[in-house]
Amino acid sequence: MIRKLPPELIREIAAGEVISGPADVVRELLENALDAGATRLYIELWGGGLDKIVVRDNGLGIPREELGLALEHHTTSKLTDLQNIRTLGFRGEGLWAIRQAARVRLTSRPPQQLGGATLTAFQDKTELHEHPAPAGTQVEVTALFCHLPARRNALEAPAAEGRKVVHLVSRYLLHRPEIALRLVVDGEEKIAHAGGGFAEVIKLLWGSVVANRLLPLEAAEGPFTLRGLLSRPELSRPRRDRLLLALNRRPVEWPEPLLQAVLAAYKELLPAGQFPVGVLNLEIPTEHLLINTSPDKSRVRLIRPEAILGFVSQAVQGLLSAHPLARALPEPA
Ligand code: ADP
Ligand code: MG
Repeated sequence: MIRKLPPELIREIAAGEVISGPADVVRELLENALDAGATRLYIELWGGGLDKIVVRDNGLGIPREELGLALEHHTTSKLTDLQNIRTLGFRGEGLWAIRQAARVRLTSRPPQQLGGATLTAFQDKTELHEHPAPAGTQVEVTALFCHLPARRNALEAPAAEGRKVVHLVSRYLLHRPEIALRLVVDGEEKIAHAGGGFAEVIKLLWGSVVANRLLPLEAAEGPFTLRGLLSRPELSRPRRDRLLLALNRRPVEWPEPLLQAVLAAYKELLPAGQFPVGVLNLEIPTEHLLINTSPDKSRVRLIRPEAILGFVSQAVQGLLSAHPLARALPEPA
């Protein structure tokens, strides 16, 4: 059930969600779909997202009588214990912020509800229509920043904004390879993934030359688990841009000590200035993770990280030492 957060919690959250372009809209909608347990997602952009953004999911849906509430400020159905955040969203600001910036059409049907409904919102006006609809939710965002010229002027060309969206969606998909996802930008299919494992999604997004040089990693110790793929020493890059981490299923920037733990394991194996490639999903108890430090939640802090760092170091070192032949592998056909 969606409800308004209590004022003391609102003060503590103090995020000030800002939508600065199409990628921010897509991030909010994509996170909502994932929080709703969607296994299938369709995303469409027109004009790089400036003209239209559509995100459709097969998740839990929103009951007809809660559609209006969903678009209000600080309204959420998600757990709001800041010590125990398990969802991507929790501040109840995503849809509200989008609504401040654009025209929104929210169509939804929870699987158990007969018939769906669409709520159209533009500035202060809303309209509700009931009609048949597939189970799940579709959000359509149009006329982004049409009444906010300063923000519209700050945008890059549509093609560049579109590329940011492709990059963002790829990032989420890399950490959730089990999701089936299609992304279409200005009529062109950019991503078509039927759902699978890390190897399939990396092959799709980074190519088979990379995918064939990664080692699967799966480790668990006490409450910690680490899953993903990391490169054999023969594969490296002069930049760190393809070494990705999700903490409790949230794509994040690396907390520095954790990054150092991974890089240390490669130290003897890679030339100076080269970085490994890979995607890691680390799960830790929520009390070790402080998320609420940046509006997009990508900067997080580890609390009492010693045991986590030890676990990750061991897992990565173990992986690399178990594959000493990796370095001399022939080119795959
Ligand atoms: P938050 O994600 O922080 O809860 P939002 O403003 O993004 O805040 O969404 C408000 C509420 O609307 C959510 O808590 C959820 O109940 C509902 N909601 C939004 N998008 C979806 C979706 N795709 N599927 C199901 N429910 C949704
Ligand atoms: Mg949200």
